[in-house]
Amino acid sequence: ALPIMAIVGRPNVGKSTLVNRIIGKRLAVVEDTPGVTRDRVTYTAEWAGTDFILMDTGGWEHNVTGIDLSVAQGAEVAMEMADAIMFVVDATVGATATDEKVMKLLRRTKKPVILVANKVDGPQGELEAAALWNLGLGEPYPVSALHGRGIGDLLDVAVAAL
Ligand code: GDP
Ligand code: MG
Repeated sequence: ALPIMAIVGRPNVGKSTLVNRIIGKRLAVVEDTPGVTRDRVTYTAEWAGTDFILMDTGGWEHNVTGIDLSVAQGAEVAMEMADAIMFVVDATVGATATDEKVMKLLRRTKKPVILVANKVDGPQGELEAAALWNLGLGEPYPVSALHGRGIGDLLDVAVAAL
């Protein structure tokens, strides 16, 4: 079976945009309204010769009531099923209370967690990304899922963790 990379994070941080960027297609549904994702959950992906399964835990956002619950459920599923976890935070917003809850869940896992600081569309966003060191999950990788910035460096690290 292929290794599984799970993508965890609040609604609207850019999980589906990141999925589309990684798979190089527009298959995941990108929504401007938080919490209404209808994406499928798994996709096949490849980076630098490594095939893997990409799991968008936002695909369950409509299944439960309450943002905290659904994001926590995504984190639990990821910790159980994935070989590595990408935790996506919106660097332009910073870490929210929900992000802190997810951080606490993810700190329980021994699986590799890669902290993705998304929406860093230009160099001026690097400082906001660096502020996410405070989550205590290691180095934040600044990316723009929308424009592709930083995605290669992120995937090098993430795939090496599989
Ligand atoms: P999800 O709910 O986490 O799956 O988030 P989506 O992928 O649906 O994206 C939510 C919104 O954020 C959409 O309007 C996206 O276009 C926008 N978005 C996603 N990634 C980026 C990014 O890197 N930069 C900017 N500026 N916007 C982004
Ligand atoms: Mg989504």
